[in-house]
Formats: sequence, structure tokens, C-alpha cells
Amino acid sequence: MPSEIDSLLRSPKAYQVARKVLDAMESHRVWPTALNFELWLHYVAAKDSEVAAKIDSVLQSGGTFTDQLGEQIAAQHLPAAKLSGEILDAGKSLSEELDSVSRAIESARETSEAYGQQLATASESLVDQDADAVRAMVETLSVATRKVREENQALESQLADTTEELTRLRESLAQVRRDAMTDGLTNLSNRKAFDESLERACAEAEASGQPLTLAVVDIDHFKIFNDTWGHQTGDQVIRYVASVIGRIADAPRFAARYGGEEFAVIFPGETPETAVTAMEAARAEISSRILKRRSTNEDLGAITISSGIAQRRPGEAPATLIESADRALYASKHAGRNRTSVAEHGSPPRGASRAA
Ligand code: GH3
Ligand code: MG
Ligand code: MG
Repeated sequence: MPSEIDSLLRSPKAYQVARKVLDAMESHRVWPTALNFELWLHYVAAKDSEVAAKIDSVLQSGGTFTDQLGEQIAAQHLPAAKLSGEILDAGKSLSEELDSVSRAIESARETSEAYGQQLATASESLVDQDADAVRAMVETLSVATRKVREENQALESQLADTTEELTRLRESLAQVRRDAMTDGLTNLSNRKAFDESLERACAEAEASGQPLTLAVVDIDHFKIFNDTWGHQTGDQVIRYVASVIGRIADAPRFAARYGGEEFAVIFPGETPETAVTAMEAARAEISSRILKRRSTNEDLGAITISSGIAQRRPGEAPATLIESADRALYASKHAGRNRTSVAEHGSPPRGASRAA
């Protein structure tokens, strides 16, 4: 999304623009999907963009804007290199806008209800006046009231439909956000989610003075495993290791797939002592299991993992904490793998344990 559109969505005019976009979409009978919204945002707020020109030419030629056409325009004209972060941000601001539209709809509904009630009350208060005049006025008023009520009902049902559609849209955006934070292979949180979670955990530890410990984990000699048994079997092993690590990381602990065959676990409020116990449990479980190839039941032997653990020092940034844990992991590898090491600040990492 061009940066001027992006900043428009964070300006005081954001909701006004969002409403204008939704109005334009509605008047052309375009579904308010996230993608359509983005395209029509260009049409409304970036008249000279390629997307706006394309939509304009479709409308000028009397054509209909369909979801399919929207996908074609997006594929051709929206920047291909959209990072998931950008999609998340757009989703977030769209979601906020939809909140505001929903609130406006709700308030319009209340106003229209109140108007109907006022008319009804006015007709009641005229009862004690001159009989004919009152009757005439009451009749006029009651016709008007009925008309307004009917209009209100039509509006209400239309607004209810729109609100329902917006709720659906918001739910699908929330799902997109969840998907963007999850690793597809293992279902653990992904690197982006990890980065955000560690950032938050560091800020909370700084504010509360509570300890915070980080473990990084790497499968040993995994390249050889892949070369021997194939990438697909390698993927199964990554899933298996993820499931074991996920199991030792109940909330508030937080486990993520950090990269290819690497994982990380955040231990909020914990010192390395309990983190070592958890990682050692995972290490022992993994190294003691003889893996079998599912399709053939072929014996693949056991694999092992190495871990590095570091406790956050006061004032320490997430990146430095990761570096400390990485150094401890390197020490585990260097000392022969299949073990857990703890970073001791100011001295080389200490091996906490090793395989029997
Ligand atoms: P070390 O004990 O030093 O960690 O040795 P290693 O072979 O595990 O280390 P290295 O980092 O050299 O290799 C990691 C290998 O992990 C490379 C690649 O073949 C494999 N790998 C990374 N991501 C994936 C993945 O998503 N699936 C599979 N099957 N293999 C992966
Ligand atoms: Mg590695
Ligand atoms: Mg490795």
C-alpha cells in the first residue's frame, strides 16, 4: 500500500475515508472483503494510482466489479512483495475502521428508534385540545409516524445486514492475523510471533523486575539426517520435535519455531534453573525415542537436540538476550551436542548436562 494511503488510514480523516470507501463499494454492489476494500481504497484515495485507473476503466465501460476481477487487479497492480507485516497492519487498521463503522451504524439505529418514539409521544399529548383539529393532526402525525417507522424498519434491517457482514469480515481478518503468526509445518508460533512475544516479555520483565529466561534449541546433525532420509522425513522430525517442545511450554511459557530446525522457548518469571529442567526433559524424551518412518516402519534411529539458555539481565534488549542464548547453544554444540548449556555472563557458558 503506498505510504500516503497508509498514513491517511492513521490520520484524523481515517474513518471518514473508510466510510467513503464502503459507500462507493456499496453503490457499485461490491462485497466489503478485505481485498476489495484495499482496492477501492486506492480508487477513492489514490485517484492517480494504477489500481484506481483500472477500476475506473471497468466502471466507465459499464462493466461489473466482481471478486474475481478484484483478485486479477490485485495480482497485476498491487505490489507483489507485500510482507505479512504489512498485511497485518492493514488488517488491523481496517478492523479498527470497521469497529467505527459498526458504532456509527449502531448509533444511527438508536437515533431512528428514538425519532419514532418521539412522534408517538407527540400524538398522545395532543389528546386534550379542540377535537377536530386534534383528530386531523393526530391522523397526519400517525401517518407520518407509521411511514417513519416503516422506513426505520427497512433501515434497521439493512444496517443489521451490513453489521453482520462487517462482523464476518472482522472475523476473517482475525483469522488471517492468527495464520500469519503460526508456523505452517509445526503449528507452533512463528518467528514473527516470537519476536513480538519476546519484546513484550522483556518490557514486562523490565517493568516488574521479575526474571526472564530464554532457551534456543537446535536439532543436532540435521543436515545428515535430511541427506540420509530425505527432506520429507526431515519435516516429520521437525514436527515431532516441535510437539515435544510445545508440550513443555504451557502458558505463560511461549514456544516458537525460530527457523528451519531451530526453536525457542520464552520462560517469563523463571530463572535458568527451571528452564534447564524443562529443556532437559525435552532433550531426554527426544533422544530416547527410536524414530520410525511412517510409510515403511523403517528404523531411523534417534535424533538429539542441543539447547542454550540465558537469563535476561536488567536493561537488556531482546537481541542481546538472543545472542547470549545462542552463545550457550554454540557451547552445547561445541561440547559434543545432545546437551543443555546455560550462559554465564562474563564467563563461558556452563554445560548443565549431557547425555548419558
Ligand atoms: P548442527 O548439529 O551443527 O546443528 O548440524 P546441522 O546439520 O543440524 O546444522 P546446519 O545448520 O548445518 O543444518 C541445518 C539443516 O536443517 C539444513 C537443512 O537441510 C535442514 N533444514 C532446515 N530447515 C528445514 C526444513 O524446514 N525441513 C527439513 N526437512 N530440513 C530443514
Ligand atoms: Mg541450525
Ligand atoms: Mg542443527
